[in-house]
Amino acid sequence: MTAAHPAPADPATAYDSPLRPLGLIGGMSWESTALYYRRLNERVRERLGGLHSAELRVHSFDFAPIAAMQAAGHWDEATGRLVRAAQALEAGGAAALLICTNTMHRMADAVQAAVRVPLLHIVDPTARAIRAAGGHRPLLLGTRFTMEGDFYLGRLRTRFDLDPLVPDAAARALVDRVIYEELCRGMVSAASQAAYRAIVERARRDGADGVIFGCTEIGLLLGGVDLGMPVYDSVELHCEAAARFALGDDAD
Ligand code: GLU
Repeated sequence: MTAAHPAPADPATAYDSPLRPLGLIGGMSWESTALYYRRLNERVRERLGGLHSAELRVHSFDFAPIAAMQAAGHWDEATGRLVRAAQALEAGGAAALLICTNTMHRMADAVQAAVRVPLLHIVDPTARAIRAAGGHRPLLLGTRFTMEGDFYLGRLRTRFDLDPLVPDAAARALVDRVIYEELCRGMVSAASQAAYRAIVERARRDGADGVIFGCTEIGLLLGGVDLGMPVYDSVELHCEAAARFALGDDAD
C-alpha cells in the first residue's frame, strides 16, 4: 500500500527563505541607508515575486559621532567601530556585508580582514558598469575623503584600468559641504543642484565621459536629472550586486 500523503515537511527547514542574508553597515547617513533597504527589497521582489523580501541585518550608526571622527581624522577609532559592527552582523547570520557609504570604504580592507564572510565592495560594481558602458574617464563626485584619498581612486585605476578625474579644490569643497550640511540632513536644494550641474558640465568639457555618484546621498540631489553623460550611481550598482549575491546569482 502506498502512502496517501507525503511525509510532513520538516518544519525546521520547510519555511526557510531561499535568500542569503545580507548585513548592512549603515546610518552614514540613514538618508541613504533607507535607499539601500528599499532597493534591496525591490530587487528581491522583482526576481522572486510574491511576498518575498530581502533577509537583512542592519547596524545603523548614529552618524554624528562618526562624522566627528572623520572630521578629526580619527580613522582608527572609526575603523574599530565598523569592525565591531561587521563582526556582530556576521555573528547574527549575515552571509555577506555591505558598507553603505563610499567614504567608509576607506577601511574596507580592515573590515574584510576581521570577518570570514565577503565584504561586497562598492567600487567594484560601479567600475564594472563603467567598463561595460565603454567609459574610461569618469568624474568622481563624493566627500573630500573619497575624492582626495587613494582608497577609491586607486581601486578604480589599478583594478579597473580607469582614468577618473575629480573637480578642482573649490568645487570639491562645495560638493563635500553639500553632502554633510544638506544631503545627510535630508535637505535638497535647487541651488545645490545647479552648482553640482555646473561642476559636471565643466568636467564634461574637460573630457569626462561619465559621472560617478560616489557618495550614497548624491542620487537624492541629482537622481533623474539629465547630466548629458552616463551616470553611475553607487547605491544602485551596489544594491544590484548585493541582490545578486542574496539570490545566489553572484557569478561576477
Ligand atoms: N554617505 C556618504 C558616502 O557615500 C557620505 C557620508 C560618509 O561620510 O559616510 O560617502
